[in-house]
Amino acid sequence: MKPSIAKHPEQNVIRVTENLGVIRDLLAQAARDAGRDADPVRLLAVSKKQPVSAILAAAGAGQLDFGENFVQEGIDKMAAIGRRDLVWHFIGHLQTNKTRAVASHFDWVHTVDRLKVAARLSEQRPPERTDLNICLQVNIDNEAGKSGIAGSEVLALAQRVAELPRIRLRGLMCLPMIRQGFTAQREPFAKLRELFDDLQRHGLPVDTLSMGMSDDFRAAVFEGSTIVRIGTALFGVRQ
Ligand SMILES: *Cc1c(COP(=O)(O)O)cnc(C)c1O
Repeated sequence: MKPSIAKHPEQNVIRVTENLGVIRDLLAQAARDAGRDADPVRLLAVSKKQPVSAILAAAGAGQLDFGENFVQEGIDKMAAIGRRDLVWHFIGHLQTNKTRAVASHFDWVHTVDRLKVAARLSEQRPPERTDLNICLQVNIDNEAGKSGIAGSEVLALAQRVAELPRIRLRGLMCLPMIRQGFTAQREPFAKLRELFDDLQRHGLPVDTLSMGMSDDFRAAVFEGSTIVRIGTALFGVRQ
């Protein structure tokens, strides 16, 4: 069974609960097929450009992790929803002039790709909040103009970021080129996992591989993803 994707955003809300069930089943199936059923995969519901009503529907069905790409949109939704139990992940491109807002409001940032951004998040994280969770974004296909560091830069940046106070380096994230077919889709995820294994070999306490989206999450789970970021398959088309 596949999640049903509404053609119009206003149809999304009614399908969210149903789609959530389907996606949870597909994730559990992928984990079993990959031989990692004791090893949970966290579902991050990517709610960018989706209405608050859709987020509330997902939260009502037990979904707690939400991902936003635009700082102000995310903060406005947090305020409108007002629930303390939800976990908010920033997954968009992060400019230095937005780091304070992100450090103040979000729980995770998946897209750190410069020491300067990490240092600002570290300085600006309010001391009364728990450490901000950080993933480094890797430009895994070496695409021109795409955010993320090269694989060869991962270890050095990770070592610097891991030393900063009030932020906690959790792992790596990637956004590969679109590929057709399971075998081709696994390739960039396998590369990210190798970089992750290398960090662990160097003694860094990383535990997160943020990889896999609506069209390739099964391949990502086979390569060890611990967080899949799913938007369209859960909420339908974006506004
Ligand atoms: C939009 C987005 C997603 C979700 O993509 P879908 O194809 O809608 O599942 C995941 N990760 C990032 C970084 C995104 O920007």
